[in-house]
Amino acid sequence: MTPEEFRKYGHETVDWIAEYMEGIRDYPVLSKVRPGELTASLPGSAPEKGETMEAILADFRRVIVPANTQWNHPRFHAYFAVGAAPEGVLAEMLSAALNVNGMLWKSSPAATELEMVTCGWLREWLGLPDEYFGMIHDTASTGVMHALAAACHAADGSRSSLVLYCTGQTHSSVEKAAAALGIGHVRKVAVDGRWRMDPAALEQAVQSDIVAELRPCCVVATVGTTAVAAIDPVKAVADVAQRHALWLHVDGAYGGPAAIVESRRGVLAGAERAQSVIVNPHKWMNVPVDCSVLYTRRPEVLRETFSLVPEYLRTAEDASAVNLMDYAVALGRRFRALKLWFVMRAWGRERMAAMIDAHCRWARELAEWIEADARFEVAAPVELSLVCFRHRGGDEAGRALMEAINGSGFAFLSHTVLDGRFVLRFAIGNHQTTREDVRAVWERIAGLA
Ligand code: PLP
Repeated sequence: MTPEEFRKYGHETVDWIAEYMEGIRDYPVLSKVRPGELTASLPGSAPEKGETMEAILADFRRVIVPANTQWNHPRFHAYFAVGAAPEGVLAEMLSAALNVNGMLWKSSPAATELEMVTCGWLREWLGLPDEYFGMIHDTASTGVMHALAAACHAADGSRSSLVLYCTGQTHSSVEKAAAALGIGHVRKVAVDGRWRMDPAALEQAVQSDIVAELRPCCVVATVGTTAVAAIDPVKAVADVAQRHALWLHVDGAYGGPAAIVESRRGVLAGAERAQSVIVNPHKWMNVPVDCSVLYTRRPEVLRETFSLVPEYLRTAEDASAVNLMDYAVALGRRFRALKLWFVMRAWGRERMAAMIDAHCRWARELAEWIEADARFEVAAPVELSLVCFRHRGGDEAGRALMEAINGSGFAFLSHTVLDGRFVLRFAIGNHQTTREDVRAVWERIAGLA
């Protein structure tokens, strides 16, 4: 492609993106394709001879876009709703153009130092202590595996006798990480009536394991659990962790950014005592997927766990610069800090906080509308920007309602099961969502009910 052609197709692509963002409400949120339909519409083999950009872009619009679930849609309320702010999209284009691999400081001083700078900025926004070292991973799942690997390293000795504590509400990535790392035992600590870890039950579990000659190693507390956005009592969990020298990991992948709102800073109370904390800017901070920040106050342990430097990667700057490959399994690293930098600068703390706060307020309002409708009940306390609710007509009615709203293309909601009963989840998190969107989706749900 010549620079002239690049300009032509680049402009065309940016125009398409701008139109897509502007007209996103016209798209069905959930794709209407059936499994295999996309595959069947594409050739079985890659072309022998290169094709034109006209043909490729036309197929993108014709085949790919309709088979896409529109995660950037303001009425996407499933899982945890996310947003890719335009500033982040532009940063991704630039990052692809630079195509750096930030494995070493020398391989990209900009990527390495900007990652340190942006993680520092975010640490300040979150009110976490200065001594926390931050680095960016693709996902919280990868980040927690690194945190728990460091916890195992700090515990030393055989992994088969190590015990990790979490709850039945903890994200599945924690158990996956434990499996990958060979952690011998995962204890699901009891929760209270609001699905929060019970610190007394944690203490009891740790004591029983000590009596059984196992080795309690780490505990994961969550700020904003996946099913109901419960907030574990991190301070009380930190007390238990401190008493028994456990590695405390705080999973704030979804809920952590709420601490950017001054009046909500308390959501991360206790996290300042953790050995590691994760926050996902790609969930509630408008940064395009993927961007997850892992903080640790024990970077030296992370480094001891993962630093293994073959000769060809040794540099003269090793003593004076951070080489991020020393702190993770992956050698190659994308320039993810660029989009975080663009978004944090363009939005500023005030506007980011205002958005997050508005999402939380709309969630409370939605809960009030739900409670005011005799056919429904709110199924869990509304802590952040997620509302869990149930159709009083029973599980089948709830399921049918979810299928009807999702099938309409107007909005996309997901579900969970609480105490054996089907529950709808309405998550708010996209930067383009308005109060009117939330109201319109609720009215649609009420109408379908
Ligand atoms: N932690 C919590 C509380 C989550 O809800 C999720 C995913 O939704 C994760 C961790 C995993 O996030 P990721 O997709 O970045 O691995």
